[in-house]
Amino acid sequence: MLFRQLFDATSGTYSYLLASRPGGEALIIDPVLEKVDRYVALLADLDLRLIKAIDTHLHADHVTGLGELRDRTRCITVMGEQTSADVVSMRVSDGEAVEIDGLALRALYTPGHTDDSYSFVLPDRVFTGDTLLIRGTGRTDVQNGEPRAQYESICGKLMKLPDETLLFPAHDYKGDTVSTIGEERRRNPRLQVASIDAYADLMNNLHLPDPKMMDVAVPANRHIGRPQRPDTGGFAIPAREANLVIARGGCLVVDLREASERARRGAIEEAVHSPYRGLADALAPGGLLNSLASATGKRLVFFCAYGERSAMAVEAARTAGFADACHIEGGLDAWVKAAPSP
Ligand code: FE
Repeated sequence: MLFRQLFDATSGTYSYLLASRPGGEALIIDPVLEKVDRYVALLADLDLRLIKAIDTHLHADHVTGLGELRDRTRCITVMGEQTSADVVSMRVSDGEAVEIDGLALRALYTPGHTDDSYSFVLPDRVFTGDTLLIRGTGRTDVQNGEPRAQYESICGKLMKLPDETLLFPAHDYKGDTVSTIGEERRRNPRLQVASIDAYADLMNNLHLPDPKMMDVAVPANRHIGRPQRPDTGGFAIPAREANLVIARGGCLVVDLREASERARRGAIEEAVHSPYRGLADALAPGGLLNSLASATGKRLVFFCAYGERSAMAVEAARTAGFADACHIEGGLDAWVKAAPSP
């Protein structure tokens, strides 16, 4: 595995770049906006293609690099389903896998620092965000934090991982870079409490100043969604009109989501499944969508979960010569909400 721990000194944030092999697909965890140039250069140096950018939670101390990375690399943005960010391409829930070529991270819902905090687990390591830090834990007094939930997340979930599991946090302010689950169980001062009540007391009496960047970072991180109506217009179908447009015929409806999303959230029967990750191949001569669209003369109508991947797919399809390609604004989420209730 290719693994890089990257540091932003201004906010004390660690970001992590992972890939299974040189030349392959990559993902990044907790990227920082100001460091995006560095990440893009490193991806080029290592001959990697960024497929997914994950935030462990909505950060209060730095502006996320998710939106900028998506705009520059066309990657899929990923957060937990509880996030208050306006649009992320893919929302995961507890137990779901976040996959790239050769790697699958298991999402673990670990609320407490915020109500949208997730950890991401590989067989030998865990990325704990601000839930569990090295010799510390993330504050629970802002952004719907809750010390009892955090105690349950740490003791009920993270501490169930094998002792030798490497622990990579989202922050460190002392210069530590890595620990293990066993080491934190024994040495983390916050975890040497007798009960969940004692932990809540401890966390409720820290009296920390607000994070320096909070007033800037939180609103910015809530609005990272990509505009879903390309400037050219006419390429986004409002969700409430989608059924009508499709019923008129002449459309090749394309589901860009991954198999795990379809399994969990349902699929639309007549849609062709062509995951976003493989879109370039599918649109190329001989590819699935190219062949189907050419054979039938039908218009490509993309949809995904929230409309981001499909908006990017419209641009890719138009570049590939499918000038009338369009997408369903807001994705399946908006489509379901727009459906008349029975
Ligand atoms: Fe945080």
